[in-house]
Amino acid sequence: MGRVRGVDDIVGIDLGTTNSAVALVEAGIPGILASSQGERLLPSIVRYHAGRAVSVGVEARRSLAAHPADTVVSVKRYMGRDRGDAPPAVALGERDGRLAILAGGASHLPEEVSAEILRDLKARAEGALGRPVQRAVITVPAYFNHAQREATKRAGELAGWVVERVLNEPTAAALAYGLSRLRERSKLAVYDLGGGTFDLSLLELREGVFEVRATHGDTCLGGDDIDQALGGWLAERIAASGGPSDMNDPATSTRVRMAAEAAKVALSSAVETEIVLPFLVEQFHFHCVLTREELEKIARPIIDKTRAHCRQALSDAGWTATDLDQVILVGGQTRMPLVRRLVAEWFQCADGAQFGAVRGNLSMSDADRRGPMLNTSQHPEEAVALGAAIQGAILSGSLNDVLLLDVTPLSLGIETFGGLMNVLIPRNTTIPTKAGELFTNAVDGQRELLVHVLQGERERARDNWTLGRFTLSFDPAPRGAARVGVQFELDADGLLHVLARDTRTGCEKRLTIKSAVDVEDTKVQQMVEESVEHALADWDARRWVEASMRGREAAAAARQALGEMQAELPEEVRSRVVRSVEAVESVLAAGGEDAGDLILLQSALKQLDEDTTPLADLLVERAMDELLRRRGALR
Ligand code: AMP
Repeated sequence: MGRVRGVDDIVGIDLGTTNSAVALVEAGIPGILASSQGERLLPSIVRYHAGRAVSVGVEARRSLAAHPADTVVSVKRYMGRDRGDAPPAVALGERDGRLAILAGGASHLPEEVSAEILRDLKARAEGALGRPVQRAVITVPAYFNHAQREATKRAGELAGWVVERVLNEPTAAALAYGLSRLRERSKLAVYDLGGGTFDLSLLELREGVFEVRATHGDTCLGGDDIDQALGGWLAERIAASGGPSDMNDPATSTRVRMAAEAAKVALSSAVETEIVLPFLVEQFHFHCVLTREELEKIARPIIDKTRAHCRQALSDAGWTATDLDQVILVGGQTRMPLVRRLVAEWFQCADGAQFGAVRGNLSMSDADRRGPMLNTSQHPEEAVALGAAIQGAILSGSLNDVLLLDVTPLSLGIETFGGLMNVLIPRNTTIPTKAGELFTNAVDGQRELLVHVLQGERERARDNWTLGRFTLSFDPAPRGAARVGVQFELDADGLLHVLARDTRTGCEKRLTIKSAVDVEDTKVQQMVEESVEHALADWDARRWVEASMRGREAAAAARQALGEMQAELPEEVRSRVVRSVEAVESVLAAGGEDAGDLILLQSALKQLDEDTTPLADLLVERAMDELLRRRGALR
């Protein structure tokens, strides 16, 4: 049976906050599928008319000022969110207990609004190709959580797409920039500042494989914030020149915000621009001149917010800026000269190493440069869709020289003796991955082992998050004699498969956990910050638990030896050992909440070690005698 052209194609879709695009790899070359009017980007704007008619894109944007209550912008910000955390920019309501957007006299779920955009892209793709297409890879910000990814997938399905993969935007962008043009072992940073989201991802290309080594970002930070700040600045100017003193009227505030955005875009190529708003209200006309310098003052605090994410990602990957070969810019907002300047400064980009002008010239020798190159060679708004198309081509089998890997946002492990977290897969490990360890029983006669699966960066189990738990039964064994192998396998879809096996009997239990990779960015950030904040206390707690386990074992062993060798021990040795055992036991009973307890315990243990040396010597002597006697008996 022959291949039906078109049916097997997998297009790539960048479902952006501000703009969306669809692309396809044809004959090995990725390209944007433009509209019949030649538009490459589709504004992510949906207008609901009276009745059931809907318009999307440029048409919806044109009517935005006149019909703001019927028009939805930045719907991506609402995807997969509940009422509580949605930003209050449009009229929000509820439908079936879920957050809904009120527009055109009806309520719409965010995925239904996104589906309108995706439906338009489908018609656009089919129009451009002249054949039906069904399968798509859709991109999302790296920090979208599970609910947000699911909502994106549902939106695709509502629009009639078969969603083959939900792909991280920076990974897609790196694919578009990097495919086969980078030398092996390149290290890249993808700085993606779009309309509503920011991500910084660090990737490494090795043997044709892209590995995401770290990602950090903010799902509510982008060019829209600059528009809003500039809109606020304009509102003050408008009020000062006799215009309306508040922006309560949606039509007026929308016009101001659109003028702010247009001025911001114009100032990426000009050093000053005019803002003209005729008939803003009744007979009031507004006019002013805005300079790039003034805009940069307004925008700087917003762009500065991205810096901490860059730092954190570098520290997570254990890299410094100078380890990087390239910094790739993605997202429309990176066209702003200030963004380019600051990114070049933060990443210590080599002077004159901005290329775009010297497109494709990646062969500069290491000796020629001092820092990474700032790569602006791709259209920042198109790179994500092109990369998604490349991923689509890989999935459909028409391209197969690259593989994509993601990383774990937080460490995964199990609870072990003394309530400590035992990490099996550390944070930022490339997935898919597998790790295992042997565990044993803590007490004599124990019949089962509790496998408590944890996620987080803290030393104590109770400070991390529980992902699941189960028990594995085994035959009663003396303390330390049971052997249970625990294996974690994190697959390419982010599912964590936990397996525990009694190595003696082969009995095993399994558990699959869905939520190991898709964790909300704010929660990841909070967990990492807490682990830094409590690092010293956590470290003390771990050392206390480990020392107290050693203490308990040593005290029990000393008491047992005392009992066995009562008759042979000189009284002086016996009483010294008893005293030091009691000292260890009394520090252990005190608890360990105080950092000083650890020092007391360590010194009591040291004393016990010293005092039990004659005891240990005697035990060895006794064992030797016994051995020799047995050997003699055998001869
Ligand atoms: P994206 O989400 O990647 O489509 O990026 C959209 C954001 O980029 C919006 O905030 C736009 O205002 C902004 N943008 C697009 N073009 C430019 C430009 N030439 N200069 C500055 N910002 C721009």
